[in-house]
Amino acid sequence: MLVTKNLVPGESVYGEKRISIDSADVDGAKVEYRVWNPFRSKLAAGVLGGMDKIFIVPGSKVLYLGAASGTSVSHVADIVGPEGVVYAVEFSHRSGRDLINMAKKRTNVIPIIEDARTPHKYRILLSTVDVIFADIAQPDQARIVALNAHEFLKVGGHAVISIKANCIDSTAPAEAVFDREVNVLRGEMFKPLEQITLEPYERDHAMVTARYIRHM
Ligand code: SAM
Repeated sequence: MLVTKNLVPGESVYGEKRISIDSADVDGAKVEYRVWNPFRSKLAAGVLGGMDKIFIVPGSKVLYLGAASGTSVSHVADIVGPEGVVYAVEFSHRSGRDLINMAKKRTNVIPIIEDARTPHKYRILLSTVDVIFADIAQPDQARIVALNAHEFLKVGGHAVISIKANCIDSTAPAEAVFDREVNVLRGEMFKPLEQITLEPYERDHAMVTARYIRHM
């Protein structure tokens, strides 16, 4: 089972289970964890599917593209903790409302209701980030990641991308689609590091990590 340490103990975000355990370091104190379901989160599926590294650690600055209503974002906020920050970009106003509500309690989340294709519109809200995570299910997803990387990703930083094959090309075999997206990243100064499928949690999805080598 995958869990994250609850940044706001006593509260669930979307009805997920919480688990409280006695802490070893503080007398009588309890630490609370939230269950992270890989069938509901591509990032959780990547972790449980065997991804070696997701590069998101306590203190990380993360640009999260495709935040939806913020369920997975809330777990990323748990991981980066109070020293980190998650810039969560979502262009749907309907999902954005839930995202904004979630961020009221998790103050390390900065909700940004904009199109990830126009990073200059949110330039003023961001500093340089360590990691870009993308789950936007768009045909030009790798290009969108690159646009954001050229604006915000530090050299030596990482991209973690969930690729849904049939959103990009429903006629080509999934492997060919994944290769094409990885090649787009190569052309945009990324060095691909790892690629796994998200089976059994998601069909025809891959998760790819890559290091940003230098600015273009
Ligand atoms: N990552 C989310 C999770 O695990 O809960 C699910 C993301 S869902 C597959 C894709 C999201 O990306 C949708 O909410 C959609 O509105 C958003 N999206 C798609 N294209 C976008 C764009 N160009 N800019 C911002 N958000 C976008």
